[in-house]
Amino acid sequence: MNSEQAKTKFFGNIYRIIYQDKHTSRQNIAKKSGISLPTIASNLNRLTDAGLIHTVGSFQSTGGRKPNIISYVPDARFALGIDITKNHLSEVLIDLDLNIIGSKRMYLPFEDSEAYFQILSFEMQQLLNQYLIDPSKLLGVGLSMPVHVMRDQKTISYATVVNVSANIYERLTPYIPYPFLIFNDANSAGLAESWISGSEQPMIYLSLSNSVGGANMNGKEIYKGVNCRATEFGHMCIVPHGRKCYCGQHGCLDAYCSAKQLSDFTNGNLAEFFHCLKENSNVGLQRIFDDYLNHLALAVNNLRMCYDCDIVLGGNVGSYMADYIELFREKALRLNPFEKNGDFIRICHYRTEASAVGAAAYYVNEFIQNL
Ligand SMILES: [Zn+2]
Repeated sequence: MNSEQAKTKFFGNIYRIIYQDKHTSRQNIAKKSGISLPTIASNLNRLTDAGLIHTVGSFQSTGGRKPNIISYVPDARFALGIDITKNHLSEVLIDLDLNIIGSKRMYLPFEDSEAYFQILSFEMQQLLNQYLIDPSKLLGVGLSMPVHVMRDQKTISYATVVNVSANIYERLTPYIPYPFLIFNDANSAGLAESWISGSEQPMIYLSLSNSVGGANMNGKEIYKGVNCRATEFGHMCIVPHGRKCYCGQHGCLDAYCSAKQLSDFTNGNLAEFFHCLKENSNVGLQRIFDDYLNHLALAVNNLRMCYDCDIVLGGNVGSYMADYIELFREKALRLNPFEKNGDFIRICHYRTEASAVGAAAYYVNEFIQNL
């Protein structure tokens, strides 16, 4: 390795330690990395000159000079996430901390057409013009969709929730003049949830939106399976010979626990369903929700038995679960032969836009890892 390469390696390694620790000192960096203090000092100068780190105060002195608190600059780079669903288009701009800097969500039924791509492009440019002062700080655009995507993150291998052509990546290219890739929506949401939890522990993310999906996270790693079809939790059979699922089979979790199983009773409005539920005025809706939770408990218990890790309830229904989590934990624990504490069942952090944030987070991760 020549000295230029060594410098590059230290530059990235030191930045990654600062990113991981959020607040640190040059002494801590030396302890963690084994890099000499003079080399750390010169790389800290380079990272500061590049606008990637800054000093945010000083630690209490343990004798001698107070050590500086070194932190990374969250708005040194940005990434854009776009979530395409059957009926909505969402866009978020995030910083290196995965904070949402700007966002937009609109009713826009998906069409695999030039007209739709033009609107997507226009809205994207508007958001960037509004919130991104320096366009050179944009790392890339992550596009999340309810589809199976091959490992190239460009080729669609399966789509039923939205109708997309297999070559949608090529067709979108003229409309997105930045690096961009396509991601499965539930996998993206899982990445966002796992990242923001700050834990490197494995986690199952269960997405309860108009279709049911999920992600199997191990820190920032998504387990995708041999055919990129892993974690299709929506098509686990929970009722043999049960309700017909859109996939053609019967008794799938999706047919019992998609958001539609609730919102269909309030004219497609999920917020209205939970509003009525909270008002306690409609016994019928309470029974429907109870039935929903019973089926969901079966699925969550199965996932706990398989994976033995935290299960995060996400998607549109997950974002309304705060008032019902204790009730739900009790239901799930009744099926669990081993445990008495239901804290492993958690509610999602991102009430909305987890998929868009996760798709954008891919570029944040890529930036940090490749520095
Ligand atoms: Zn199914």
